[in-house]
Amino acid sequence: MPTILSHAVVPLAIGLGAGRDRVSPALLLDGAAASMLPDLDVLAFHLGVAYAHPFGHRGFSHSLLFALALGLAARLLAPRPRASRLVAFCFVFLATASHGLLDAFTTGGMGVALLWPLTETRFFAPWRVIQVSPLSLNQIFGAKGLAVLLSELKWVWAPAFAVGGMLALLARFHQPPATRQTESGVR
Ligand SMILES: [Zn+2]
Repeated sequence: MPTILSHAVVPLAIGLGAGRDRVSPALLLDGAAASMLPDLDVLAFHLGVAYAHPFGHRGFSHSLLFALALGLAARLLAPRPRASRLVAFCFVFLATASHGLLDAFTTGGMGVALLWPLTETRFFAPWRVIQVSPLSLNQIFGAKGLAVLLSELKWVWAPAFAVGGMLALLARFHQPPATRQTESGVR
């Protein structure tokens, strides 16, 4: 997996780029939490569940079905995050789905059960470029951790902020002329 914070960077960068009118601060936090949630499955190791088991690490919680379930939950809870139900669904679904998809680009571990329960096959992306994060804290804060961080800056943070920046530009471009004039001081 990329480190847990790098998973959250994806919805945070994209949500901030889309603007608080579209993605409210509450929905932004929901998306960040949803993007990190799949890795709670590491608890399965402590329960003796094998890695390759559907309920093991990178199993059902990394599937698109799990992302769909969280998206639907967010839709039902809207407007608590003060967002339209469609936006809440799409944002939380994509935030959760991004977790399994990013894991599929990593250089280690087993693949990701993206299509569970249709198949228990573990998938990897054709290009595995993100250095896999070690599971032990000692290694995360060591030399290995630095290599992982640099890899995530290049392959996760930079693309996420690039997309967020483009969304911010698009959002500004699509603002009503009256709003743009007011912001720039022309009244
Ligand atoms: Zn993961």
